[in-house]
Amino acid sequence: MNTNPSATINNPICFQHYRDLPAEMFAESMPAPSAAPSLIELNTNLLDQLGIDSSWFGSQQALSVLSGNSINEANHPIAMAYSGHQFGNWSAVLGDGRAHMLGQVKTAEGRYIDLQLKGSGRTQFSRGGDGRATLGSVIREYLLSEAMAGLGISTTRSIAMLTTGDSVAREQLNPGAILVRSAESHLRVGSFQFARSQSIQTQSIQAESIQAQSIQEDSAQPPATIDGVKALADFTIVRHFPELEQSSSKYLDLLSAVGKRQASLIAEWMLVGFIHGVMNTDNVSITGETIDFGPCAFMDEYNPQKVFSSIDVQGRYAWDQQPTIGQWNLTRLAETLLPLFDDNEEKSVEMAQQRLAEFIPQFQQSFQAGLMRKFGFTEGSDQTRQLTTEMLAAMEADGVDFTVFFNNLTRVAEGESEPVLINLFNDAEVASSLIEQWQALRAKDSDSLLSMRQANPAVIARNHQVQFAIDAAVEDNDFLPFKRLCRVLANPYQIDPADHELMAPPKSEQRVTRTFCGT
Ligand code: AMP
Ligand code: MG
Repeated sequence: MNTNPSATINNPICFQHYRDLPAEMFAESMPAPSAAPSLIELNTNLLDQLGIDSSWFGSQQALSVLSGNSINEANHPIAMAYSGHQFGNWSAVLGDGRAHMLGQVKTAEGRYIDLQLKGSGRTQFSRGGDGRATLGSVIREYLLSEAMAGLGISTTRSIAMLTTGDSVAREQLNPGAILVRSAESHLRVGSFQFARSQSIQTQSIQAESIQAQSIQEDSAQPPATIDGVKALADFTIVRHFPELEQSSSKYLDLLSAVGKRQASLIAEWMLVGFIHGVMNTDNVSITGETIDFGPCAFMDEYNPQKVFSSIDVQGRYAWDQQPTIGQWNLTRLAETLLPLFDDNEEKSVEMAQQRLAEFIPQFQQSFQAGLMRKFGFTEGSDQTRQLTTEMLAAMEADGVDFTVFFNNLTRVAEGESEPVLINLFNDAEVASSLIEQWQALRAKDSDSLLSMRQANPAVIARNHQVQFAIDAAVEDNDFLPFKRLCRVLANPYQIDPADHELMAPPKSEQRVTRTFCGT
């Protein structure tokens, strides 16, 4: 473990565990200075939950460190290396092109969490770009990641947001900002791909068609030295999966553990209508946290093929494609680990395939269980499954808002009269008949009602509300809509009457139909 002797007693960022990794996995990199930094938001709730003293984060000294102005205080920051399949196309070197890992903070429970600056300037991994982030993109990530946490879904978090006082040129000049992001880990499937491609000194992992779930191993390559991957896998197990350390098949178990977390993460996303939008292997967290909130969005009306990202023209990352892509990404992880499974390559492939085959059933199990909870059914039976399929089909046919439907369904279960539900559909007759069947099948005890409520948020981070908060901040320097949305999204299952307008789907002129990989 590396500690930083120069850290002052008050600065809690005093570890840099990634330095234990092979040297090629990161590069020393200093954040760029900011002209006139200002702290806009500090997530004291999160710091309190973690048992981390927030007083340092509110200090001038912290502002100086987090804005890149105090190099001595910074904890020997690094930019991390990773590769990635982006929309299926292989990029051998990506890495943090606009992010700096400051190090880890120890929580009251004795866990370590990463603190990373995003938008803090160029690194050796910046191919193009200025290394900066716009205020709009930082607000977006802050809101969406905190919304995810409010929903109880595993995610990287936002510790703080600051403006830099510099302008960032995109289509127009934008205020520059930095997000202080926390995570259990910033290791990605792409980190393993990078380690593997370094080990074999060649880029044999090629782009392939989306249908290909099969494992690719280029047998024409010289025998790989697998030291880098092994070091990364061992680091990951020790830091994040210590329960696997004693296992005789720990690398296979690591693959399964990552798969399990990803399968349930994707199920949870889908159950709240979330579309990640850019599930490239460099955006798949090894610890199963939601990471990279570029073009992501929650859908309004239910449409399984829904895509928001402006660059996802083929619908590769559509709402209903996410489990298949999750398995595709996990297969890419398995490829990097193959030599660790067994000396015999054929045997390794067979072992990996067995583990990979568990992914879709695991997803299905989480998704179906969650869907039953959303409908207030205690168990899945042929009848309940049939009815949920029919209800979803009716919602799709009539363009019913996903979140409003399940919230109103819960309200009816809680005793409200049925028109709040029936009125959402164009065809009242079909809707009434489905609701009658649902009433006969649903559980009516208080535990089930509570569980149903906790599966159905009243409010999500709707695109038009996020856009409204961004516009107010960027155009009018008004952060009140951002702060209000943040407060409401922290507790999405209960909403104050004064905030009810935030539940409403967009009016036609408010609709956001496209999202962008915001930089
Ligand atoms: P992201 O959208 O953060 O997942 O970025 C994808 C890749 O592009 C990563 O390697 C980033 O570090 C890099 N990148 C994105 N935006 C910028 C920027 N403004 N300057 C430099 N590199 C960037
Ligand atoms: Mg990314």
